[in-house]
Amino acid sequence: MALLQIIGLNKSYNKKKVIEDLSFELQSGEIMGLIGQNGSGKTTIFKTILGLVKKESGEIKINGKLIEGKSKGYLNTIGTIIEYPTFYESLTARQNLMLISSLYDKVNLSKEDLLNYLHLVGLDNSVDCKVSSFSLGMKQRLGLGMAIITSPDLLILDEPTNGLDPDGIKELLNLMISLKKSGMTILLSSHQLYEVSKVADKVVILHDGQIFYDGSNVQSDDLESLFIRIVHGGDAIW
Ligand code: ADP
Repeated sequence: MALLQIIGLNKSYNKKKVIEDLSFELQSGEIMGLIGQNGSGKTTIFKTILGLVKKESGEIKINGKLIEGKSKGYLNTIGTIIEYPTFYESLTARQNLMLISSLYDKVNLSKEDLLNYLHLVGLDNSVDCKVSSFSLGMKQRLGLGMAIITSPDLLILDEPTNGLDPDGIKELLNLMISLKKSGMTILLSSHQLYEVSKVADKVVILHDGQIFYDGSNVQSDDLESLFIRIVHGGDAIW
């Protein structure tokens, strides 16, 4: 069964349709890249899944269960970074993570767990450094650390490579592979098809709130030829 199913989703803002009859699904254990230019609707889809904006019509299912009404229990199974993660700059990476974990009833992190999470996101050497000294890439890593302390089934990351230099992008995408190996299912958005296609098992390409290419049911995307088609093809959107 798919971990996430989106079926016929529609959303408008001020009578302007921004998501139109959108359907795709994400299988457990996969990394999926939701690719589209700015304004194509990526964040709106994520916010709808997270209950931050109300959908107009359509269905969203997590582990086969319909997300409906005011019940937000399903959010316990999702870790997320939407837009930029924020921190207490004068506190260290360890202190920030401790503080966040204390906000969750069911998260009881030992000192060792905390270090394990920081290790998982590659911040071993900066555990006790103040966040104010961190690069953007290190902050993204710490944001990921915060997103995974509840051991979510699904990680939703909105443009996690934004603002990073090429080395930072490479590091972050490698981190996605490590997180996948540790059992996470990841849905990340980006406008960088080529970079994301290096780590994603599947890609879904959005254009003006509609699906331009749906790789969610394809066994293995031929991403190289897809990329060439999009860049050079008649139906180029980039
Ligand atoms: P992306 O994440 O791909 O950049 P968004 O989901 O942020 O795209 O935006 C999709 C469209 O919806 C854009 O045209 C944007 O201007 C519009 N939009 C997003 N949020 C709002 C809002 N709160 N009110 C009105 N329009 C919005």
